[in-house]
Amino acid sequence: MDRREFLLGAAGLTLAASPLGVLSCSTPHRSEKGSDLKLSFQEKTAPGKDLNERLDYMEALGIAALEPGGRGLADRVNELQQALRGRDIKTSAICAGFEGFILAEDPAVKAAFDSSIRDIIAAAGELGSTGVIMVPVFNHQKPALPHTLQTREYLCEQMHELGEYALKHNTTVILEPLNRKEAHYLRQVADAAAICRDSKSAGVKCMGDFWHMQEETSDYAAFISAGEYLQHVHVASRGHRRMPGEDGELDNYIDGMRALKQLGYDKYISFECGTDGDRNQTVPAAVELLRSQWKLA
Ligand code: MG
Repeated sequence: MDRREFLLGAAGLTLAASPLGVLSCSTPHRSEKGSDLKLSFQEKTAPGKDLNERLDYMEALGIAALEPGGRGLADRVNELQQALRGRDIKTSAICAGFEGFILAEDPAVKAAFDSSIRDIIAAAGELGSTGVIMVPVFNHQKPALPHTLQTREYLCEQMHELGEYALKHNTTVILEPLNRKEAHYLRQVADAAAICRDSKSAGVKCMGDFWHMQEETSDYAAFISAGEYLQHVHVASRGHRRMPGEDGELDNYIDGMRALKQLGYDKYISFECGTDGDRNQTVPAAVELLRSQWKLA
């Protein structure tokens, strides 16, 4: 058993030798500044009967940040500040939670989006969050503006305004590409990054979600293409979106992690997943798996 097999074995995971062998042979230079893995959990990821118990659990496990849901966030700023006070846990991104959507054809639905996301952005700023995650349009959201050049230009203009608003609140807005079953409009990290660039606001960022990145031909290339625009990462098992490790050898994140290290990525990798097992076992096993793969990346 070599070091690689030992580390993966310690996390309760067996990976086929060939893909890892290819990766380890082709590792180019890497950035030293990107050597820290900072993990984040959503509010229900850790076991526990309430938020404080879950935060205790996260602290014991060395989890660096919490990703709160965005719904009603303005009314929860005080509660979350109290819960995080004195803890070594920051606020990572805010997970959506707004009304309507940015590419709505109906002006009332667009207005609901504009107002609710601004409330969430302001609250995110108060919490020191890295940004508010948003999807331009889900497949089920209709009527939506057509997938045309004009719509993309409109999206960039609207994102510019949102990004500038977010900067005033010391935070950002983060575009999340999804897989085609959920949102055919925006599916790949590079496309999201190009929208960031064309929005011409430092407050417009993007992310990658290892679950949705089934759309990508290369995790590595996807993250590298995002470059300076990459502000957040979601992680889940890659077969059915449970804790990393629950899908066995499918749960290989090393190629993507290698890109994050090279970029000097200093934001968070945040769990967005359920579990089929006992959280007291699957959560620490997933954390150990990610830490061991980060070392190998
Ligand atoms: Mg996600």
